[in-house]
Amino acid sequence: MDYLPVAWRLRDQLALIVGGGEIALRKARLLARAGARLRVVSPEVEAELDALAVQSGGEVIVARYIAEHLHGVTLAIGATDDMSVNQQLHQDALHVGVPVNVVDNPPLCTFIFPAIVDRDPLLISISSGGASPVLARWARSKIETLLPTRLGELASLMGRFRKPLAAKLPQIGARRLFWEGLLDGALMETVLAGRTADAEQLLQAAVDDADVETLSRGEVYLVGAGPGDPDLMTFRALRLLQKADVVLYDRLVGAGILELARRDADLVYVGKARDQHVVPQEDINNLLVHYARQGKKVCRLKGGDPFIFGRGGEELDSVVEAGIPFQVVPGVTAAAGCAAYAGIPLTHRDHAQSVRFVTGHRKDKSVDLPWASLITPGETLVFYMGLVSLSQICQGLLGAGMDPNMPAAMVSRGTLADQQVLMGSLTTLPDIIAKAEVAAPSLLIIGTVVTLHPRYRWFG
Ligand code: SAH
Repeated sequence: MDYLPVAWRLRDQLALIVGGGEIALRKARLLARAGARLRVVSPEVEAELDALAVQSGGEVIVARYIAEHLHGVTLAIGATDDMSVNQQLHQDALHVGVPVNVVDNPPLCTFIFPAIVDRDPLLISISSGGASPVLARWARSKIETLLPTRLGELASLMGRFRKPLAAKLPQIGARRLFWEGLLDGALMETVLAGRTADAEQLLQAAVDDADVETLSRGEVYLVGAGPGDPDLMTFRALRLLQKADVVLYDRLVGAGILELARRDADLVYVGKARDQHVVPQEDINNLLVHYARQGKKVCRLKGGDPFIFGRGGEELDSVVEAGIPFQVVPGVTAAAGCAAYAGIPLTHRDHAQSVRFVTGHRKDKSVDLPWASLITPGETLVFYMGLVSLSQICQGLLGAGMDPNMPAAMVSRGTLADQQVLMGSLTTLPDIIAKAEVAAPSLLIIGTVVTLHPRYRWFG
């Protein structure tokens, strides 16, 4: 990031504009709108610019620019077609530490003017850091069409109710939820329809009825985030994630997903790479209660689906016992995500009539599975957490009489950009995996459906 976007309060500040023509006038209008007092310096000054400077409470100095004109100013604009003057202004401004902008000359600027989508008091600034003003304008026109013109009225209205609401709801978190609830509801529509008086009444009634108890109540959301690709989150998962004050996540939750949380949310890493539980399970359960008891909305993000090999049940126990309200949001489980992105249908009328999800990792780390019961004709087996015990799984199935040529695939980092699919059979896959570098997490699929991978492959 070469430029930091900020919103600069200029009311009653003195702004120097060097130049007296059309370009200077354009900048003067913008600065005057922000309430700045203008000091215009130029041997010749257009009448409109002259009037604007006076009206702003500033002054017009009909002269060539000299360094003294920088005295007492908050910022300086170079808008002359005389390069030596612009250059001089730039140097002088740097010398005294005044931010300077020379129009259309990025090397001589310490700040730039972004394109603005103006729904005053709601303002959106867009800049490409000088890389492509055309692209910035394009983005601006897109955003212009997205944001209703009356949004400014809505912002003003909300601004007027800030104080009364703060008196009613002292907790900032409760106020945020109050506003979010209103924006999702009738208020937005009423303002956009131009019914300002109705909107005002509606808002007044909502403030009168605002219930601190409900709004500042702690809640827990146990949310399935899917196998990795953020696109696979559900709408509800996204909504609750954006509502949360605290987000507890572990290694299975992709970075792209965490970026969707609120900027001001606390992101708490609770670990959980295999065998490296940074925070013991019991503590995670208690953490949920701990934060919720502080009146926070707590989102526990789980990879895949929370109720499929996700200990979702265990995590809820303490929450249930503490009587804290909660929701559970299903997610795309790894088997579904990996199967789709690897082009391996888990069932198929020519291959499999059932599918079984099995964990390759028991609480006591053994792989003691009922092998004989896993050998069902026409069934696809999906092993979660099966990478480490791959050989034992294959041995177990072979020992119970499964066809040694039964196709098997390992899908590593399914649905993510670096997804890998390694194919083999019950007999060959362990060797293939031992020789390859397979990154976690990875999922083992066993069954003749695996042969469909080359046909339905579309990703990676
Ligand atoms: N609740 C999760 C599973 C948690 S168990 C779900 O429903 O998907 C963790 C195991 O899930 C990993 O060991 C791996 O086998 C599997 N897994 C999760 N995400 C995966 C991914 N993106 N690619 C491959 N396997 C994945």
